[in-house]
Amino acid sequence: MPLVTTTEMFKKAYDGGYAVGAFNVNNMEIVQGITEAAGELKSPVVLQVSKGARAYANHKYLVHMVQAAVENYPDIPIALHLDHGDSFELCKSCIDGGFTSVMIDASSKPFEENVALTKQVVEYAHAHGAVVEAELGTLAGVEDEVVVEAGKESYTHPEEVEEFVSRTGCDSLAIAIGTSHGAYKFTPEQCTRNEEGILVPPPLRFDVLEECIKRLPGFPIVLHGSSSVPQDMVKIVNTYGGQMPDAIGIPEEELRHAAQLAVCKINIDSDIRLAMTAMIRKHMAEHPDHFDPRQYLKPARQAVKEMVAHKIVNVLGSDGKA
Ligand SMILES: [Zn+2]
Repeated sequence: MPLVTTTEMFKKAYDGGYAVGAFNVNNMEIVQGITEAAGELKSPVVLQVSKGARAYANHKYLVHMVQAAVENYPDIPIALHLDHGDSFELCKSCIDGGFTSVMIDASSKPFEENVALTKQVVEYAHAHGAVVEAELGTLAGVEDEVVVEAGKESYTHPEEVEEFVSRTGCDSLAIAIGTSHGAYKFTPEQCTRNEEGILVPPPLRFDVLEECIKRLPGFPIVLHGSSSVPQDMVKIVNTYGGQMPDAIGIPEEELRHAAQLAVCKINIDSDIRLAMTAMIRKHMAEHPDHFDPRQYLKPARQAVKEMVAHKIVNVLGSDGKA
């Protein structure tokens, strides 16, 4: 099948009590690792491109690599999505360039401006067969050009969601319930430590999620910043010359629970970066004579595949749902 929008996949995910993984793509190995896992596990998947990815790899390369994956895995639904579009022009350019879904993130603007800009993008997208994700509330953390200091985030106000969705006509809504961008989702001060000295994050605000679900029955919710920053990967990075002290993510059980509710799309980027970097560091340390990029990118790609397969089965529950 050709690239699809997220409409059908979210409807099935909502009804089926699972979520679709949205993984950020920046180069060929990442596209291959993600889609190999999704293809083998018969899972729908969203491949998403940030403004930073477009600046790094070029729009055309990314779209054609995703097209190659679509041809390679014709049996699974794949959507191509713009992550954190910050202007109408950027969203338009992605829709014109073959994306089936865009996010307009005007969440840092006042409510009325967020409504106006989102509505403008929705009108253009719907006229061109694409769908739109919008956002209410602000996540902490760092993702490409989106930087929000810890403590400056704000949870979504559930009393705003119905008006926002009905006035904008958006197709899905990202909300802020305590997830965060990047590999350092919480400061040590926000956490407690377990016996091994590893940080334990504050729990997600499921009360906010439940309240949004009540007000938007049947409507797909999106969670950003949902990497779990597996400590075994952090340990490999730190063992082989890296320095990522106190890297911390969202516990997988909490995301699994969200996926069983109305959360239909869960964004995961940092865990892919972490898996690749861990394997490359390890490979370089163990094989100081290697200089062919294929020698270290091959295990890195395999690590992406294993990470995504793990998420599909243990966090998202989307295996066998293609
Ligand atoms: Zn995000």
